[in-house]
Amino acid sequence: MAASIDSPAARPADVAPPAQSEPGAPLQLEGTPELLAELAEHSRRLEHALPEEIIRFAVERYFPRLTMATAFGPEGCVILYYLARIQPRTYVFNLDTGYQFAETLELRDRIASKYGIEVELRRPATTIAEYEAQHGGPLYRTNPDQCCFDRKVTVLRDSVRGMHAWMSGIRRDQSADRAAAPVVGWDRKFNLVKISPLANWTKKDIWKLITEEDIPYNPLHDQGYPSIGCWPCTRSVMFGEDERAGRWSGMAKTECGLHTLEAPAAETSEGANATPGSEG
Ligand code: SF4
Repeated sequence: MAASIDSPAARPADVAPPAQSEPGAPLQLEGTPELLAELAEHSRRLEHALPEEIIRFAVERYFPRLTMATAFGPEGCVILYYLARIQPRTYVFNLDTGYQFAETLELRDRIASKYGIEVELRRPATTIAEYEAQHGGPLYRTNPDQCCFDRKVTVLRDSVRGMHAWMSGIRRDQSADRAAAPVVGWDRKFNLVKISPLANWTKKDIWKLITEEDIPYNPLHDQGYPSIGCWPCTRSVMFGEDERAGRWSGMAKTECGLHTLEAPAAETSEGANATPGSEG
């Protein structure tokens, strides 16, 4: 299913920042029934489209108020590969918690050098030393939900201010939680249109494109880490384990909170994002 595309466009010097101000454009979209119906229609139409077509739709419909958060997983790297060709000025950021692997940060630089996309590192207000001092030690051991909320979710909220849509690298086959993710839906947690261009791709599709197109990826994937987050909450997995088994291993937690809803309420519109869904 992997498709190759034209060579990269030259990246303009400026990257679209958050909170673009176009005259007349609302700062934030509202999840009205009309909007949910429109998104459901887009999702139906794009259900069998290739990732490139879905990303083109996202850019044509929402740029410059389109963004993506990436943890530089293989799926995020694939979307960056497409964005380099379709709209390299799309605002892409990384939630730099202070606990990322050195390999992840080096990958950010390799992608910037190869594709000209400078993924912005967005950080919480406190350093990890300050944060751990405030809480009497690392919170990831005792209250990882709070740690993810403070160092990821609040930073994401701030980063997407003024945006109308974000893209996610989730695949439906990653976990039961992600199996119902629509291609285009409404993320009511962040009040954003959520577009998942890789929803229908498999791990094999992703790695086929990475290999064919020599897309940079995290070297930890070759060392038994199929899913990579912060180092304290990521371990390598053994043969036969689920690809996300190494995330928050030994805890009930399975998602960082970026793709989960705080207060699950009955969501009736097809295409609305009622389930966890990317990287993260
Ligand atoms: S993944 Fe772990 S270290 Fe990173 S923010 Fe969440 S709990 Fe904290």
